[in-house]
Amino acid sequence: MTHTWRPGRRVAIMGAGPGGVSAALAAIKAGYDVRIYEKNPEPKPIGGAVLLSVPVLAVLRSYGMDIEGFGSFTRTEFRNHRGKTRVALDFNPMIEEKTGIPGWHYGVLRSSAFARMLALLPEGMVHAGHAVTRYDDHGDSVTAHFENGEQVKADILVGADGIRSPVTTQAFGDPGLFHVGIRVWLAWCEHFDGIPPQFGAIHHSRNVQASYFPMLHDGKPGFEWWIVEKSTPTAKVPSDPEAHLRRHLAHFADPLPRFADQTDFARNVFRWEVYNRPSLPGYTKGRMAGIGDAVHPVSPYAAYGMGMAIEDGYYLIRALDGRDLTKDAVADAFARYDRERVAYCNHQCEIARTFGKMFHHLPRPLSTLRDAVFDHTGFLNMTLKRDYLADAEKQTLGLSELHLA
Ligand SMILES: Cc1cc2nc3c(=O)[nH]c(=O)nc-3n(C[C@H](O)[C@H](O)[C@H](O)COP(=O)(O)OP(=O)(O)OC[C@H]3O[C@@H](n4cnc5c(N)ncnc54)[C@H](O)[C@@H]3O)c2cc1C
Repeated sequence: MTHTWRPGRRVAIMGAGPGGVSAALAAIKAGYDVRIYEKNPEPKPIGGAVLLSVPVLAVLRSYGMDIEGFGSFTRTEFRNHRGKTRVALDFNPMIEEKTGIPGWHYGVLRSSAFARMLALLPEGMVHAGHAVTRYDDHGDSVTAHFENGEQVKADILVGADGIRSPVTTQAFGDPGLFHVGIRVWLAWCEHFDGIPPQFGAIHHSRNVQASYFPMLHDGKPGFEWWIVEKSTPTAKVPSDPEAHLRRHLAHFADPLPRFADQTDFARNVFRWEVYNRPSLPGYTKGRMAGIGDAVHPVSPYAAYGMGMAIEDGYYLIRALDGRDLTKDAVADAFARYDRERVAYCNHQCEIARTFGKMFHHLPRPLSTLRDAVFDHTGFLNMTLKRDYLADAEKQTLGLSELHLA
């Protein structure tokens, strides 16, 4: 935990979001010298709550975070808008046993989660007010340049600077961002009675999703709820979001309509127009490694954007294996990181986009047929488990160094 900057050990991280902070925590633990550069005057989380899955919690625990009282775990069901259960997602008992963490998804207010991560960083590690503009790769080192005229020389550069990353744009070209056709309204409220404990549900009507999960904010119970609806880059934003969201909620089974009266719409509702990029064939180039949204922004259907960014930071530094950052060591480690993350993350992003299209963009009568199949067959159950959960569970079981049992 020092502020030394020794050639061969220097890791310069661009962006103090969840991915950048995770990479920093992993790198400190592995004995590297770390500096984080953030364009904002201070690191600040995007609003609203998030769901984090068990491997993400196991990673955070490995950094020394106390995950007790961190989030609220939940049993999750997919339901139709009338409340009929389509899929009850099971926990994998082997994962519970190996990680010692019950459940799969944990709801937590993003600011609480991020504050706990930031608290683990040594004072002075984040250089705020530093917007990276470009970098030079010298082959045996790398120099990042900032808008304020400063520069830093390091052994590797981590591009954790989000969806509009100048770092990965320089490495891989224009990201070709495209709107995925949905917008999300994320909201949260304090706890209220009458909802079964540790239970969350994802409801779909013909082309709207309305969902809720229990969550913790600063250790206190509450709920996150959200609406996913069709959108386009030029779609008008409703002038009265509260009326708009109340209309949507009223259309769904209990308890969804009740969330409206419990929510402070002025403060605790956030709109997210969802953009993605075409999948990249690799996340590294020379001495630069991209992590999180800088290489794979994801639609909320994966419920995994923050989680994947945190995992990327962990995997990247694990691949470096504490070695000095010589040319060969970096090339080997980056190749391993690409092998372990690219296909996996790209698949999660692609499947999340497919789910978005399937639930929000099918015209009639295809949407009627879809709903009949989802209501009366095990097809949705099979698809979710095969295309979404199976890989994530396999990865978690493979992270044996994070297992307690
Ligand atoms: C409104 C909204 C709601 C969301 N809700 C959810 C959700 O409920 N669940 C979920 O899993 N995901 C959600 N996401 C996605 C999730 O936030 C991201 O996937 C996650 O934050 C990615 O982490 P990251 O560290 O890769 O990037 P970011 O969180 O974007 O962090 C990037 C950091 O880099 C900094 N930066 C940018 N440019 C520069 C530069 N030039 N120089 C230096 N620093 C720079 C930024 O200021 C930021 O601090 C949401 C996104 C948005 C926009």
